[in-house]
Amino acid sequence: MTRTAAALQVEDVHKRFGHHHVLKGVSLSAKKGDVISLIGSSGSGKSTFLRCINFLEIADRGRFVINGEEIRMKPGREGRAHPANWRQIERIRTGLAMVFQSFNLWAHMTVLENVTEAPIHVLGTSRKEATEQAEALLSKVGLYDKRHAYPAFLSGGQQQRASIARALCVDPGVMLFDEPTSALDPELVGEVLKVIRELAEEGRTMLIVTHEMKFARDVSSRVMFLDQGRVEEEGPPAQVFGAPLSARCRAFTGSLS
Ligand code: ADP
Ligand code: MG
Repeated sequence: MTRTAAALQVEDVHKRFGHHHVLKGVSLSAKKGDVISLIGSSGSGKSTFLRCINFLEIADRGRFVINGEEIRMKPGREGRAHPANWRQIERIRTGLAMVFQSFNLWAHMTVLENVTEAPIHVLGTSRKEATEQAEALLSKVGLYDKRHAYPAFLSGGQQQRASIARALCVDPGVMLFDEPTSALDPELVGEVLKVIRELAEEGRTMLIVTHEMKFARDVSSRVMFLDQGRVEEEGPPAQVFGAPLSARCRAFTGSLS
């Protein structure tokens, strides 16, 4: 994979909830193949930032270029921007996959059906082709044998690996992970991190919110430390974890590692 084109370019994102100014001008630029870890204490705005990139929340202000396509915005009420065209958002979302802390598999579908749902119903892939692709992805995450099981019969680690296979089935240009291991029992964290680490090694472009500092240090091309809605520190992992410029970042990483 080439590492030249900007897969994700986000500039000056602001978001308020009422009077609470949650994101105060956050920017991020990721080339193809970059793995960017987003760290910071609870409430610093990490999830809100990911949700703005996926347009699950609409930022009040900001510029978004996703997989090379700029999102067209128009002015709305109270000076807040809105997407000019929701069809464009729908299209762009198919190139962005999000993996949540809480797995979010469909409980009434088998693992295989969870993975083939979007290819068949959103991308229009034939059932046969979607099934072949899904089986290959399930093998990759170590779940081929569980393909006909329902989520309730899987461990948390297996459910999260199934969610990752489901995210991969549309071959997303950018993957967003929001604390993918935070809901897992400690003994199941490793199997999920292993899958994400393999995706990083394959050159997937990923933005990962995580509290797993050792993992972030190992897999990231860049780390961003968010503090009270601002990027307080940003740089290669050796800097952010080894010699942070900001005292707040030093206190945060020091308290966790
Ligand atoms: P993090 O993921 O870093 O823990 P969040 O982005 O979830 O932080 O939240 C940042 C702040 O925004 C928190 O104070 C949270 O309570 C607030 N917040 C998040 N979502 C909403 C919402 N939908 N409505 C009101 N406040 C919200
Ligand atoms: Mg969060």
